[in-house]
Amino acid sequence: MNLQKLLLTKNNCYISGKTIAPIGILIHSTGANNPNLRRYVGPDDKLLGHNPNNNHWNQAKPDGSNKCVHAFIGKLADGSIATYQTLPWNMRGWHAGSGSKGTANDHYIGFEICEDGLKDKDYFDKVYKEAVELTAMLCKQYNIKPENVICHSEANALGIASNHKDVMHWFPSFGKTMDTFRADVAKEIGSIVKENPPASKETLPVLRKGDKGEVVKTLQKKLNEFGYKLVVDGDFGAGTETALKDYQKKNGLTADGICGPATWAALNKPALAKTPEEITVENAMKAGVIVADADYWLNALNGRITVNKENLKALFDKYHTVYANKK
Ligand SMILES: [Zn+2]
Repeated sequence: MNLQKLLLTKNNCYISGKTIAPIGILIHSTGANNPNLRRYVGPDDKLLGHNPNNNHWNQAKPDGSNKCVHAFIGKLADGSIATYQTLPWNMRGWHAGSGSKGTANDHYIGFEICEDGLKDKDYFDKVYKEAVELTAMLCKQYNIKPENVICHSEANALGIASNHKDVMHWFPSFGKTMDTFRADVAKEIGSIVKENPPASKETLPVLRKGDKGEVVKTLQKKLNEFGYKLVVDGDFGAGTETALKDYQKKNGLTADGICGPATWAALNKPALAKTPEEITVENAMKAGVIVADADYWLNALNGRITVNKENLKALFDKYHTVYANKK
């Protein structure tokens, strides 16, 4: 996936700043023959290209209405395919309309696949793949099951969206359905998990005073990450024992100076801040925590976080701004 980010900060959805706790993902296609991202995403960031009509969605309508989705998939100026994130994932978009049972806007992340003339298999295959990868990433990030991934026409059938046909007027022309899509998303989630397996317990033996070796060095380095000043010599002596007991005491563990599974688990857990104010770039780097989206920190106090090292500082600044505005 070629994931880019250009938040539509002038769109009323962004300006109103309402948030959601996503329970599912809603897939749209634009319903207009224009595969170029610049039709919807702007201004030009040198990848999108210039939109001479200046009718992209990064502008507010005077009456306060505004459609907005969380992402678009389509063509860059050079003809290659990309995905643009256009709203923070947990911000309320306006993409579903409503049905007899309310609106998916309140609970779903929505994205648009830019339609072309609906005849080009190469284009379809590329945007389909991009959509699968984006959806899998979001499912993983928000703990959403693939069965909660639906398209606009399915959402309409469920009574939570207006009467549109997307994407089932398009996918079947190339042998795909929302069922194949959900199956492909499930497969993709599986491969993400496989690429990032949880640390194996076997590599972390029980350590006590007198032990020596590389794994003792690992323990000493870990303790130093939490502020201890041990010499990393691979020799579990009195100093290491004292530090370990102190760490155990401060973290609600049995302070026996023996590093067993519970202590390893604690040491390997990112040191999450206790309050939003405590979240700093330094803390996050120290904790080995990397962040995909600053807004996600609002959920991250309790758990899972994903990754983008380059953007860390900017993302944190943004997070703090968002958080400060919410208080
Ligand atoms: Zn739609």
